[in-house]
Amino acid sequence: MMSARQAAFRAAYRAQIAPAYHGLIHVALIYLIGGSALWYAAQHIHAATLAEWAVVPAVVVLANMFEWFLHAQVMHRPRPGLMGIYNRHTLAHHQFFTQEAPYHDTTRDYRIVFFPPYALIAFLVMASVGGFVLAALWSANAGWFMVCTAAGMYMNYEFFHWCCHVEDDRVLRRLPFINTIRRHHIAHHNTAIMMNRNMNLTYPFSDWLFGTSDLNRGLFGHLFNGYDTRFIRHDLPKVRSGARSAPVMAGE
Ligand SMILES: [Zn+2]
Ligand SMILES: [Zn+2]
Repeated sequence: MMSARQAAFRAAYRAQIAPAYHGLIHVALIYLIGGSALWYAAQHIHAATLAEWAVVPAVVVLANMFEWFLHAQVMHRPRPGLMGIYNRHTLAHHQFFTQEAPYHDTTRDYRIVFFPPYALIAFLVMASVGGFVLAALWSANAGWFMVCTAAGMYMNYEFFHWCCHVEDDRVLRRLPFINTIRRHHIAHHNTAIMMNRNMNLTYPFSDWLFGTSDLNRGLFGHLFNGYDTRFIRHDLPKVRSGARSAPVMAGE
C-alpha cells in the first residue's frame, strides 16, 4: 500500500520529467553504449592465456565491491562534490520506490530506475584507465578483458535493478540470482535499513563479505537465497536517513 507521501512524491517527480524523455530510448542508449564498448574491446583479444582469462572473475569480484562501496558510501552519504548522486538516489529513488510500493508503472518511470547514460561513460573511462595500466604492466589481452567485464557488469547491474522494480514476477521469481537480488534490494528499500544494509545490486557477495546483509547465512545461501525469508535477521538496528522531505531534482 502506497503512502500519501510517496504518491505525492511520484506525482511531483513525474511532473518534472521532460516531455521529450522516452524510457525505451534511455535504456537503448545504455545498452548500445555498453554493448558497443564490450564488442569493441572483445575484438582486440587474441589467443588469450588462462591467466588472462582469469581477469574476468577478478573484475567481477572487484566490480561487485565497487558497486557495494559506491552505494554505501556515495549514494547514501552526502559527500561534497558528489551531492547529485546522493540527491538522485537517497532523496529521489528511495522516495519513489519503497519496500511497500517498489514497482514502476510506465516506461517514463525508467527515468528514476536507470542511471543517466553519462554514468556509464564515466564508468567506462575508469575501466579503460584500469585496462590501460594492466596492459602496460602485463598484457594487452588482460587490459581488454578488464574493459569487457566492466561493461558487462554495468549492464548486468542495470538489468538486475530493473528486475527489482518490475511488478510482475511470475518469471523473475524462478530465475536464480534475479530472485535473490529482487528480495535483497526490495528489502533495501525499507527506510529502516536502507542506510546500512543490502548495498549490492548484482550478487550479494560484498554484503555477505562485509557483514552488511539482512540475512544470516553463508555465501552459497546468500547467492541462491531467492525469496526465502527464514534467514532474515530481526536484530538489525533501525536507522533513519534523516532525509525527511524529498525535493524533486530538476537535473541530476
Ligand atoms: Zn532500487
Ligand atoms: Zn539505496
